[in-house]
Amino acid sequence: MIKQKYIKLFRVKSGKKIHLKDYDTSWAQNEEFKAFGKEQLKERANEILEQNLVDLKQVQQLLYADDRYSLLIVFQAMDAAGKDGTIKHVMSGVNPQGCQVFSFKKPSAEDLDHNFLWRYMKSLPERGRIGIFNRSYYEDVLVVKVHPELLQNLPDGKRGKAFWENRYEDINAFERHLERNGTVILKFFLHLSKDEQKKRFLERLERPEKNWKFSPSDLPERGHWDDYMEAYEDLINATSTDWAPWYIVPADNKWVMRAIVADVITSTLRDLDLKFPELNEEQLKLLEQARKTLEEE
Ligand code: AMP
Ligand code: MG
Repeated sequence: MIKQKYIKLFRVKSGKKIHLKDYDTSWAQNEEFKAFGKEQLKERANEILEQNLVDLKQVQQLLYADDRYSLLIVFQAMDAAGKDGTIKHVMSGVNPQGCQVFSFKKPSAEDLDHNFLWRYMKSLPERGRIGIFNRSYYEDVLVVKVHPELLQNLPDGKRGKAFWENRYEDINAFERHLERNGTVILKFFLHLSKDEQKKRFLERLERPEKNWKFSPSDLPERGHWDDYMEAYEDLINATSTDWAPWYIVPADNKWVMRAIVADVITSTLRDLDLKFPELNEEQLKLLEQARKTLEEE
């Protein structure tokens, strides 16, 4: 396990105003990890990840049986930060029946004809399940804020000065509604440095088996890096709440990032009052009768 005091370093307290430049993308502030060399670091982070995967498998079974809560996990990040790989690794041990992953791309014409939360509402996890959003409604205050021409048709007067503030408010209310109905929400911003993104893009261009990961829009979006950082900072400050906190996870080291994400998910589930459903007397009687019937066959 990663010590709680480290986990707390990544969680953005409600009401706190953060600056992303204060958050180290390679997480040098951890005393335990700082002393390690690269290979040792990978090994230690992997150990933490492996242990968490074992625990997560158990606690997911309990979440499913308990059938009162659902868990919504939101991943947001710049391109090449490792969202897909993190989802693949962290969820590798869980029962596929209890887990759903949705990757949100550019909205369709039908999506754009609805309110901006509509397509996400349709994909929320059912009780007992883990739902993963690979990108989410936060794109509607990120890419759409950086490129306002993407905004859907809205009546005159709806795009005034308070437009983005209103969207944050809507998101907070939406998440509050979910939390009040039994959804636990975790939001991860995988925080990559611009230098590390360059390295990973070059790798995608140089290695044929990675070429498919490179998209023509990757470089133009990188050109808007500062706008994106500002949009991230604003939304994290506006929407890290007690009921749906943001975690800013250092993403330059993939192994450390995955270990942290797995640890936060597992410890969040472990802290819930999950239990196997107990049968009442009537149900127990029915079982007893069934047992007798079978034995007398
Ligand atoms: P990827 O996840 O790399 O396959 O890319 C998906 C693309 O869809 C990204 O360029 C996102 O910015 C874009 N996208 C996702 N959600 C939205 C949205 N709500 N509005 C506009 N573009 C979006
Ligand atoms: Mg991409």
